[in-house]
Amino acid sequence: MPVLTIDQLFELVRRHGAEDGLDHVIVAAALAESGGNTDAIGDGGHSVGLWQMHDQGLGTGMTVAERKDPDRACGVMLPAFKRAWDNAADIANPEVRATRTYLDAERPEGFESLLSTAAIHFRDRWRIAIPAGGGAGPAAPPLPGSAVERIWDEIVFEGCFPDNFARGRQGIKPEAVVLHIAEGTLAGVDGFFNRAHNLPGEEPSSAHFCVGKKGELHQYVNTADMAFANGRVEPGATAKLIAENAGINPNLWTISIEHEGRSGDEVSNAQWDTSTRLTAWLFRHRLFNSGATGVAVDRNHILRHGDISPKTRAGCPGWDELVIQDHVQTVARLLAE
Ligand SMILES: [Zn+2]
Repeated sequence: MPVLTIDQLFELVRRHGAEDGLDHVIVAAALAESGGNTDAIGDGGHSVGLWQMHDQGLGTGMTVAERKDPDRACGVMLPAFKRAWDNAADIANPEVRATRTYLDAERPEGFESLLSTAAIHFRDRWRIAIPAGGGAGPAAPPLPGSAVERIWDEIVFEGCFPDNFARGRQGIKPEAVVLHIAEGTLAGVDGFFNRAHNLPGEEPSSAHFCVGKKGELHQYVNTADMAFANGRVEPGATAKLIAENAGINPNLWTISIEHEGRSGDEVSNAQWDTSTRLTAWLFRHRLFNSGATGVAVDRNHILRHGDISPKTRAGCPGWDELVIQDHVQTVARLLAE
């Protein structure tokens, strides 16, 4: 498998005339698209070569062999990258300019967010794509944006065993966040949600996220799908939305966040920081715009599992009223920054 090194990739694109800075973008793009493998085939056979040239995109009219040829591929890709690079000339932050260039050159039809998965994948490669002798390389300044916006970079997607969640939300719009305690470690949660729950007494279960004690953030279920975290409404439930949504499984209108540890554990600063920033991000990007009415950062929309299931989950997450109110206020403050 002909995999080019970072130095070989720089040599290739500079030989074709890539200017300083643009060379770095095109090399990082090759790493993101193919790992530097000139023979890489993806997208069901449609995408070929270092830059995964699509047979209906920039690779239109080219044979597979031509798209595998680094010089042929570079000859077509460089002008596309050059156009996008020039269009992004007014962006001062080098990492943002590089990412915008990549997104525009590789995906001219879909103007993707700087915080999309493709963008994050590219930015990781851009940070490591430094030629030998290149010294420390370009600085990698943080993306502009608040502590809340950066949360998306921090998510590690773990996935979930298919029986432990359901696709979609049956048309119900999410409007609240429910906080949980994992009664275990982050690694334990990763494993638990990713195996069949078929032991005696088990039932399918999952959450959208889990926050580790060191502030790690793992995701299991897409927020557009239903996690099985807090579906049982029990007598004594105090959540106001329970009455408003009478008869509707709370999993359909909530996004659930687990926290590593045991009920009664003190929440570490790092865990608190990630939990509140994630909650703020979810309100801004998933709840305020979900189409549900009356969504607000308040105690009615940030719930403890115990507010829904006070009989069997009274200790979940085990935060008293002062702590949960502090969480609400911190989220509100983050969103005002
Ligand atoms: Zn819970």
